[in-house]
Amino acid sequence: MKTSNNHVKRLTDNIITGGIEKDDVEIMLKVRMINLMSIIAILILVPLGIVDLIRGSSTIGIFVLVIAAVIIFNQFYLRKSGDYVFPIYCGISLVAAYFFYALITGGVNNTGYLWYFTFPLFTLFLLGAKRGALVTLLLLFISILFFTMNPSSSRFTVYSTDLKIRFVASYLVIFLFSYLFETLREKAQQKLSLKNVELEDTIAELKESEEKLQKAHEELERRVEERTADLVKVNDQLEKEIKERRQAGEALRESEDRYRVLVEESPFGVSLVGKDGRCKYLNPTFTEIFGYGLEDISTGREWFQKAYPDQKYREKVISSWTSDLRDAVPGEPRPCTYTVTCKDGSEKIIHFRPVTMETGDQFVIYEDITERTQLEAQLQLAQRMEALGTLAGGIAHNFNNLLTGIMGNTSLILIDTDPTHPHYKRLKSIEKLVDSGSNLTRQLLGYARKGQYEVRALNVNLLMKEIADTFALTKKDISVHQELESNLHGIHADQGQIEQILWNLYVNAADAMPAGGELFLRTTNVTDKDIKDKPYKVKPGTYILLTVRDTGVGMDRKTTERIFEPFFTTKGLAKGTGLGLASVYGIVKAHGGYIDVDSKKGKGTTFSIYLPALKKQGPENKVTPETIERGKEMLMLVDDEAMILEVGQEMLEMLGYTVIQAKGGEKALTLYKKHKDVVELVILDMVMPGMGGGETYDQLKEINPEVRVLLSSGYSIDGQAKEILERGCDGFIQKPFNMKQLSQKIREILDKEHS
Ligand code: ADP
Ligand code: MG
Repeated sequence: MKTSNNHVKRLTDNIITGGIEKDDVEIMLKVRMINLMSIIAILILVPLGIVDLIRGSSTIGIFVLVIAAVIIFNQFYLRKSGDYVFPIYCGISLVAAYFFYALITGGVNNTGYLWYFTFPLFTLFLLGAKRGALVTLLLLFISILFFTMNPSSSRFTVYSTDLKIRFVASYLVIFLFSYLFETLREKAQQKLSLKNVELEDTIAELKESEEKLQKAHEELERRVEERTADLVKVNDQLEKEIKERRQAGEALRESEDRYRVLVEESPFGVSLVGKDGRCKYLNPTFTEIFGYGLEDISTGREWFQKAYPDQKYREKVISSWTSDLRDAVPGEPRPCTYTVTCKDGSEKIIHFRPVTMETGDQFVIYEDITERTQLEAQLQLAQRMEALGTLAGGIAHNFNNLLTGIMGNTSLILIDTDPTHPHYKRLKSIEKLVDSGSNLTRQLLGYARKGQYEVRALNVNLLMKEIADTFALTKKDISVHQELESNLHGIHADQGQIEQILWNLYVNAADAMPAGGELFLRTTNVTDKDIKDKPYKVKPGTYILLTVRDTGVGMDRKTTERIFEPFFTTKGLAKGTGLGLASVYGIVKAHGGYIDVDSKKGKGTTFSIYLPALKKQGPENKVTPETIERGKEMLMLVDDEAMILEVGQEMLEMLGYTVIQAKGGEKALTLYKKHKDVVELVILDMVMPGMGGGETYDQLKEINPEVRVLLSSGYSIDGQAKEILERGCDGFIQKPFNMKQLSQKIREILDKEHS
């Protein structure tokens, strides 16, 4: 029901609008109006025309129908073309024509003119004020023309002048009001549309600004996004940097820790002095070396004052230190060595390595090289001694052979010379000179450490006493005090050499006390633990300590440092040889001992000698008889020197022996093979070219294991004599020897029971 209603409404609407659809309400109203009028006209005209035709008035009927057709055509045109202006003109023209027709014909009851009053109303509405006015006035003009013409025909109606005037006036009034009304409306309309345009403009502007705003908003959002992205990036970068810094910080702390440990645990002293001269840091080793802490030396100045109390030395150190500092490039070390006085007053030799850093701070490394320097000096001394020892040994060897010849010859002549003979005294003095000559070579050999031959267990107390007693006899103005350990350990040593040590020390003491004085001799048992604070390393074990102290002139430090050097003497070459203490030193070393000296100028001197001890007490020492002993056995004399062979043979024959001579080792062996059954003893020289004493001894032993051999030498290469003696050789005689010494040695061996 509702839909069909809607359908009818739409259809009627379509008919009334003529199919035109426009937004403009006014135009649509005009179209509706013309269409409605047209439809009403058609609905009236078509039946009217048909009635006219039926009634016989065909002209009118056809006319009416034609007009209706025109209106219908007009309708179709409107619908087809959508142009509403032409149909409006056409419609108005038709209405005007119809109104005029009604006027001239008088219409129904002569009231045709009344329709005229509606004409301005819709014409002005439909055509607007100006055109409507023109069309309205045109119709009025035509009507006035008709009125004035006043045609006299039955077809036309005649109106009274009064009516005509009233008609025109009324028409004009209606036209005028309609015109005014329309003009006002149009103006209002215009204003409205102007307002509308303004409004539209405003809206457009608003739209535009809204768009702009939108754009700006978008731009803003884009920028915000960009900024945010940038910020995120920067933030990431920042986080990375913070992480890196933290890592770098940790690495720094780690390396700082490492370096701190390194500096604190360093075996070297380390100090850091600021640019202003203030001490910033001292490591524990620094304080260990010098005893000074930061509280002792807060500035470099204070350090120099304390470390170098001697003004002259201090000035020297400061000037070379500052000049070094001035020239040094940052980071370049400038090593130097000075003697520093420590807090406890002791002096130390210090190697400095100062480095100036980029900051201007000074970093100094200190190495205590006191011990090393001392050891180096000792090593140098030892090397020098070694070289001199080789030289001394060589000289002693040759001299001893010469002296043996002189001694032998002198002994031989002396035997044949009566003590009353004028030459006897001279010969005795030659014997004495040879003795002091051999003494000299003995010192040389002692120093060269090559004189260690007959090593036996010894009681040092007895030796000490014996020599002291002899010494006391010769030096009456010196009182000797002995303080000997009652159960002193024995030692393993060469008796002659220990005597040599003691004799040298006593003689030196006597020389130091020319106007007399006191000599204190002491022996004590000690162990390595008692030998403390020495520049040398002590081998563990028990030792005996011999102390020889005098109250003599003493020595200054410089002298003390040199006394063990061979040929160092302060006594002048006429009196001193400078070999005494050198040989003492050599002998002590050769016996594995140590020697110290303590002396002060004007206060006397103390020598301390440590010798390795035997576990048991020392035995009784051997005492040699003073007489010449003779024999009748057959002996073989082996030597490389013809002179010694000759003199030796004569000496032995004079003692009653039969002698076979052998020049050199090889000869000795061939001869011994031949005569081994008759030869009772071989006197064998040790140093010979070709086959030496050692090898000859071994070969002899092979030929006859029972062979008896007396070794003879003025010189021993690196303890060879000692070795041969240890291999079972029966005895040793030191060249040069005299008749008495030789005779006793031979009998000592020959009279010994064969083991
Ligand atoms: P010499 O006695 O021939 O001079 P030494 O080697 O025995 O040679 O001694 C070397 C130096 O040591 C001596 O010249 C002397 O200056 C010094 N000397 C040795 N012993 C003493 C001492 N007991 N008192 C003072 N000075 C000594
Ligand atoms: Mg001396």
